[in-house]
Amino acid sequence: MTLIVAKAIWIVGVVSWCIIRYPHGRRARRTPKVRRSDRGREIVLMAISATGLGVLPSIYVIANAPAFANYALRPWQPWLGAAVFAAALWLFQRTHKDLGRNWSVTLEVRDRHTLVTNGVYSRVRHPMYLAFWLWAVAQALLLPNWIAGPAGLIGFGTLFLLRVGREEALMIETFGDEYRRYMARTSRILPGIY
Ligand code: SAH
Repeated sequence: MTLIVAKAIWIVGVVSWCIIRYPHGRRARRTPKVRRSDRGREIVLMAISATGLGVLPSIYVIANAPAFANYALRPWQPWLGAAVFAAALWLFQRTHKDLGRNWSVTLEVRDRHTLVTNGVYSRVRHPMYLAFWLWAVAQALLLPNWIAGPAGLIGFGTLFLLRVGREEALMIETFGDEYRRYMARTSRILPGIY
């Protein structure tokens, strides 16, 4: 019974995530771009991330596969997972609000791009990636399977590690010292830690 609840929480979380993103995806398609970074590489990274956060957990939720990797869900897992997913959704929604039309699903600079340093961007430079990390942690708590559970951490982790340095380089190229000063007073994803 609790397994069904845990899976249902994961589904509600992912569907809510898509609902939050939908209007921003539509607007982004209409906002002109002035610069974009290596498109092929970005598509590969997004495919890896989507496999870990979407494809593998969906297979597990629907078919309970791969069965050899299943383990018994501890009763505390669904509640903690739900709390972490709720925090991820709250933060994700805030980051979209603060970034506004500057957001892109890949690395891009838009026409009249402005540097956002307020709201959830005032202490960390990558709060949206922090929201994705929280989603991945929630997934590991909610899905009692040693492959489907941690797949999000590995998939999104790969995208994060191979993107974040390039994103900061692109921001320095675009905003110069303004971004360097912003870097000097903020952390990447955890205030004061990383
Ligand atoms: N890394 C950020 C943004 C993710 S969206 C976060 O995790 O919250 C990715 C796009 O955001 C990139 O194409 C980049 O152009 C843009 N971007 C990143 N940081 C920004 C900032 N502080 N202000 C404005 N745009 C930013």
